[in-house]
Amino acid sequence: QHALESPGKVGLIDKLGKHNYKEIYNRSLNLSSKLHTLLSAHPKRGTEGDPSLKRIITLTDSDSSHALSQYASWGNRAVTIPLSVKATPTEIDYFVNDSQADLIVSQPHYSERISNLNVPIYYIGKDDLTSKAASSSQFAHNSSEDDCLVVYTSGTTGKPKGCMHKHRSVQAQIETLVDYWGWSASDKILNVLPMHHVHGLINVMNCSLWSGATCELRETFKVQDTWEALLRDRSHEDALTLFMAVPTIYYSLIKHYHDQKLDKSLVHSRLSHFRLMVAGSASLPGPTLEEWQSISGQRLLERYGMTEIGMGISNPLYGSRIQGHMGYALPGVKCALRDLESGEIFWDSETAENKLSSGREGELYIKSPCMFDRYINKPEASRETFTEDGWFKTGDCAIVNQIDEKSGMFKHLGRLSQDIIKKGGYKLSALEIEGTILEHPSVSEIVVVGIPDDKHGQEVAAIILFHKSTTSQDELLKTIQDHCKKVLSSYKIPRVWKVVEEIPKNAIGKVVKKDIVKLF
Ligand code: ATP
Ligand code: MG
Repeated sequence: QHALESPGKVGLIDKLGKHNYKEIYNRSLNLSSKLHTLLSAHPKRGTEGDPSLKRIITLTDSDSSHALSQYASWGNRAVTIPLSVKATPTEIDYFVNDSQADLIVSQPHYSERISNLNVPIYYIGKDDLTSKAASSSQFAHNSSEDDCLVVYTSGTTGKPKGCMHKHRSVQAQIETLVDYWGWSASDKILNVLPMHHVHGLINVMNCSLWSGATCELRETFKVQDTWEALLRDRSHEDALTLFMAVPTIYYSLIKHYHDQKLDKSLVHSRLSHFRLMVAGSASLPGPTLEEWQSISGQRLLERYGMTEIGMGISNPLYGSRIQGHMGYALPGVKCALRDLESGEIFWDSETAENKLSSGREGELYIKSPCMFDRYINKPEASRETFTEDGWFKTGDCAIVNQIDEKSGMFKHLGRLSQDIIKKGGYKLSALEIEGTILEHPSVSEIVVVGIPDDKHGQEVAAIILFHKSTTSQDELLKTIQDHCKKVLSSYKIPRVWKVVEEIPKNAIGKVVKKDIVKLF
């Protein structure tokens, strides 16, 4: 549609330059026809899902090749499966077999990692990315019920699971966000996120292309380069209007701002022109929210999502964004809370008026048009993750609060499997303890976990990273332990501490708590 209506409008920017909508369309068509030839030459490998739909892995940089591969896959009615460019040969082997891929679309610089796989490979060349003329082929028609996209979960709680989305759920994810966050063709966004998760892939690149906006793609996040892009003057033709990132990226930007002593008033005036800045994928620490606001004038919009459900909950575009809260259920999304002991659903967004129960914790359940169809190759896990009446069990623990006269603002307490510490008779939220300790100015990062304990079942343990200081780490720790006595009930205070130089994280920057537990 945009290629027809505004062919010259720039849709993507990457290291090769600017690509307009007509070029994106024509190149996708050309690539689609090349992939068609390769797909036709080989029988389908796997048996999972619709036997008529083939599957294409994309292992490409976060540049225009990623968008072209996606459209070229759908142009063949094939399922697209984006992989992390950081995946090792062993991990790629797992993804190729698990997803039953029929073809890999990649770039020559990844050949070493994939050339020994027993799957046909198409290497995107410069021609594919720069050609002007369109071939005479056509895109295949996709039905909204067709399998569309497999995104692997982050692997925070186990091996990554492949989530199969149909065209209808991918479309619903995009339309919901475009509408709720007010996307328009005049938006310009910088992407610094990987393309194998919904955050970069759907919330940034696909929402941008759907809106006829401009998406400037970076292969990875680099702090200096990101600051330069954010600081473009409003009159610059590529001045940005939107930015979306994970909390650790905002944390790095803040650190760089202080380390490099960036000009305070310049930063404030340039960043105040942004229409919206979003944080999500992990909970946004209060100090990061507050400090980013004081630096940039931008109050970050926090939202909650999962690979399985797309985005489910968001703070409002207009209206108060509440610190420590993920927001309200998005339009079309239904949320419920299930009592952790009895299993009873004690709150649900449809009957919220007559069942206000602010502050009672429960597992978050979701129904949504953006919901995935199944975990591929995991029929049992797919069945178990839904209740009989169709609720998806997120595995996340939350409370719902009444803010002003409006009910239904969710606060994330953590993952049931790793953030809810069961100590004696208490159920403690590791995130609450982390948030409280993080408020102390000497603390840079902290992770709280439950470790096995003979007496209480679980005991509270913490690894902590301090800001650089001339005070010794032992003294800093003593200060924090004294501070905890003032701000936390005694049973919430970590009993075991480890001071570290770096907090271990996975490829997308999330803390894998089961690995942290092993440190104890
Ligand atoms: P796996 O399912 O393989 O263990 P994962 O759950 O980390 O990995 P994702 O689907 O990428 O994989 O992440 C979804 C999870 O991210 C949610 O279940 C939730 O725990 C966390 N999350 C997302 N947004 C937020 C947020 N705003 N606040 C707190 N947690 C969040
Ligand atoms: Mg998960």
